[in-house]
Amino acid sequence: MQHEIETRLIHDGEPRSEGAVGMPIFRSSTFLTRGDESGYDDIRYIRLNNTPNHVALHAKLASIEGGEAALVTASGMAAITTSILAVAGGGHVLAQRVLYGGTHDFFTGEARKLGVEYDFIDADDPASWSAKLRPNTKAVYVETMTNPLLDVADHAAIVRFAREHRLVSLIDNTFASPINFRPIEHGYDVSLHSATKYLNGHDDIVAGAAIGSRELVRGITHLTNHLGGTLDPHACVLLHRGLKTLALRVRQQNANALALARFLASHAAVARVNYPGLETHPRHARARELFDGFGGMLSFETNGGAAAAQRFLGRVHVALHAPSLGGVETLVSRPAAMSHVGMSAEDRAAIGLSDALIRVSVGIENEKDLIDDFAQALA
Ligand SMILES: *Cc1c(COP(=O)(O)O)cnc(C)c1O
Repeated sequence: MQHEIETRLIHDGEPRSEGAVGMPIFRSSTFLTRGDESGYDDIRYIRLNNTPNHVALHAKLASIEGGEAALVTASGMAAITTSILAVAGGGHVLAQRVLYGGTHDFFTGEARKLGVEYDFIDADDPASWSAKLRPNTKAVYVETMTNPLLDVADHAAIVRFAREHRLVSLIDNTFASPINFRPIEHGYDVSLHSATKYLNGHDDIVAGAAIGSRELVRGITHLTNHLGGTLDPHACVLLHRGLKTLALRVRQQNANALALARFLASHAAVARVNYPGLETHPRHARARELFDGFGGMLSFETNGGAAAAQRFLGRVHVALHAPSLGGVETLVSRPAAMSHVGMSAEDRAAIGLSDALIRVSVGIENEKDLIDDFAQALA
C-alpha cells in the first residue's frame, strides 16, 4: 500500500541497520566487496555515492517526489551543473531566461566552454520556443518559481513541448519543495534541488539532489562519480534528519507566508507584494492549479526606495538579514544588493527587479510575532 508523503518522509528508505530507528552515520570510505559488482559505479567506495547513508537518502528522495531513482550531491549547484552536462553535454539546451544566479552565470560563463550550447527562452511564451530549436537540442531547463518575483512558468506547455520534441525536461524545484509541487507527477523528467534549502531546512549544510528515471539518474550519477561532487556522510545524516520534518515545516511556512503577504499587501508603506498565493499575483490561478501550497518565499517593495528598504533590513529583530532561504528561521535580504548584485542595473530593471525589493524566506516562527516584527520595522 502506498503511504501519504508525511509517512513516506519518516519511513521510506530506512535501512534500520542493527535495528537502529535513527539513521546512523557510516563513517567508512570503503566497504567489503560483495562479488556482485557489475561495473565501476558499483564498487563500494564513498565517492561513488553508494554508502548506506547515500543509498537511504536516494530511496527516500525518490519516494517523496515519485521518481524511480535519486542522487544526492555536494551542493545544489553540483546537482544542477552535473545534470545539465550529463543530459546535454555536446548538445544544446533551451533555458528559462530568469534563473537562480549561479545557474544563470553557469550558462553564460561556463556552459559553452564545457560543450553545452544554450539559448534563453521566455518560459511563458510557448509560441516563441520552436524557433530556437536546433538539430542538437537535447534539453529544456526551467525553475518552478522565479527568484525573487515568484513568477510561475507555463509548466504544462513546457512538458508538452519537451515530449513533442524528445527533449529531456529538467526543473529546479528548490523553491516549491516536494510538499507543494512534485514535478515528475506533472511529466518532468528530472527534478533538481538545492537541498541546502527546504529539504534540509535548518541552515546547517550544503547539499543537492537530482530525482528522475532510473536511466537518467544513472547517467547523472556516473558523471558525478567522475567529477566528484559527492555528499559527505555527515551531511547525508543531517539532510536525512531534516527531511523527516519537511511536511510540518513547509506547511507552517506556507501559512506564515500567506499571512505575512496579506499583512504587507494592506500596509501603507508597501508599494507591491509578490506572492503566488495572493489573488492579485498575475500567476495566482496557475499556481493554484499546480501547487498544493504557495510556498514560503515572497518579496515586496517599500515606498521609500532602496534607502527605505535598506533601513527596514536594519530594523527587523525576529527576521534575520542574511542570504539563502528555506530554513526554519525567517530571512530577509535585498536582491539588488545580494543575490542579484552581479547583474547590471539595466538588466535588473528589465526583469522588473526594483532596488527597493525585499525578499523574504518565511520561517516557522509564530505568525503574530512575525507580523509584529515587520510592522515595527516598517513603522
Ligand atoms: C540556493 C539555490 C541553488 C544553489 O544551491 P546550492 O546548494 O547553494 O549549491 C540553486 N537553485 C536555487 C533555486 C537555489 O535557491
